[in-house]
Amino acid sequence: MTENRENQIDINKNEFQKLGYQLIDRIADLIDNIDKKPVTTTKTPSELQNILGHQSLPEKGTAPDELLIKTTHLLFNNSLFNGHPKFLGYITSSAAPLGALADLLAASVNPNVGAHMLSPIATEIEKQTVKWLAEFIGVSPSYGGLLVSGGNMANFTAFLAARTAKAPKSISENGISNSTEKLTIYCSKTTHTWIEKAAILFGLGTKSIRWIPTTSSNKIDEDVLEKTITEDLKNGYKPIMIIGTAGDVSTGTVDNLKNLSTISKTYNLWFHIDGAYGIPAAIIPSLKDIFEGVTEADSIALDPHKWLYSPLEAGCTLVKNPQHLIDTFSSHPEYYNFTSSEGEIAQNYYEFGLQNSRGFRALKVWLTLQHLGRSGYEKLIGEDIELSKLLFHLAEKHDELEPVTQNLSITTFRYIPKHVKMSLDDKNTYLNTLNEKLLNELQTGGEVFLSNAIVNQKYCLRACVVNFRTSKKDIKEIVDIVIREGQKMHIKLSNQNN
Ligand SMILES: *Cc1c(COP(=O)(O)O)cnc(C)c1O
Repeated sequence: MTENRENQIDINKNEFQKLGYQLIDRIADLIDNIDKKPVTTTKTPSELQNILGHQSLPEKGTAPDELLIKTTHLLFNNSLFNGHPKFLGYITSSAAPLGALADLLAASVNPNVGAHMLSPIATEIEKQTVKWLAEFIGVSPSYGGLLVSGGNMANFTAFLAARTAKAPKSISENGISNSTEKLTIYCSKTTHTWIEKAAILFGLGTKSIRWIPTTSSNKIDEDVLEKTITEDLKNGYKPIMIIGTAGDVSTGTVDNLKNLSTISKTYNLWFHIDGAYGIPAAIIPSLKDIFEGVTEADSIALDPHKWLYSPLEAGCTLVKNPQHLIDTFSSHPEYYNFTSSEGEIAQNYYEFGLQNSRGFRALKVWLTLQHLGRSGYEKLIGEDIELSKLLFHLAEKHDELEPVTQNLSITTFRYIPKHVKMSLDDKNTYLNTLNEKLLNELQTGGEVFLSNAIVNQKYCLRACVVNFRTSKKDIKEIVDIVIREGQKMHIKLSNQNN
């Protein structure tokens, strides 16, 4: 080592500018042309591995300009683009371009948002972001919380806070396996898979989950819920929480949150809302009624990387009384000197959740909230819903499509060929096979990306519009593509069967 250490990893100003400008030019081009690219690559995993090559860890370094040119090429030609206007699969949104710049900026300053002292302004920006997200969905800005990696983590964080608040205090020392209390949790059978993971990982076990059936409108059946709770109480169980879903992942249905909050209060249970997908729609004035009751939630999970169009990853946990987070996650090891700042109490985010060192996820959310403002989001989310309704309406009008459900911005429907002479049971089995094969074809074809949902035993195509690039024209073209490919698949299957 020389006296003045030289290193290969730092990049000087001129070089950084050159690399940066070139990279930004290529990204700007991608954004400008994204609608002309295939939605996804048709290459198989082994074809992709061959493109990467099978060499082992490089011994020597390579110049960054060469690396960046190669890598942009690699990514731009072999990716699935959820930013494509015809990407309506699962619940992954187009990412706000400002979010990409925000991530670059966040990584450049690189604050560790685990402690206020290590991230002075970043911590304050995250606090403001959390407050704005609370205002966005219409709950009191006194809710506290933090940004996490996504909906699963947001729900886990709330789940653990609920467990601390409602389970016997002794479990923090004795562990849950030594507790005599049989903890139970209540949610509808449409609840996202995170709840199973949480029950397994956090020691309650899957038998602690009471899967409550849904009514014909796909909402949790409140009568069965209440009956289950009272029976559990009679049989010596200890109910701790009710989970309501604000936008279920398959069909976008919102439970009756108001009634769930009343039941939670009656039995002194924690009321959690999983709004990972749907709760941003609470910003639409005409939807106020269906979100009534959110203000009563003890905790809420939402996902800025879904309907707030943030680039991955960004989830958020909101808790009515943030002290529950501190009670659950705080610790004070001797090697942290983070407690006070000029006599004021500084908020340290490591005490709010599972992570210790934390990145600056809030920045992209904070900037986009300001870029659009409340009214900008109301417009985009409203239009997404309108486009979803348009798709449902077009399916209603077309004699080869059957509309099945439409809630928030999710439409489910299926392709139905004109002439199928079969018994009713055989026909439904055939339509399920046909639509499943059709979906596989559509997902790999690169023209459009939809996903699937099973609704009342019907295998459906599912379109979720959380995409500010999708237009009416795209929706109409998607209908044409589904019909064209549906007809082809029907002919193919009919020939196989004969
Ligand atoms: C997407 C989703 C989740 C999971 O969120 P991730 O960000 O994928 O971890 C949980 N619940 C609901 C209702 C969702 O829509």
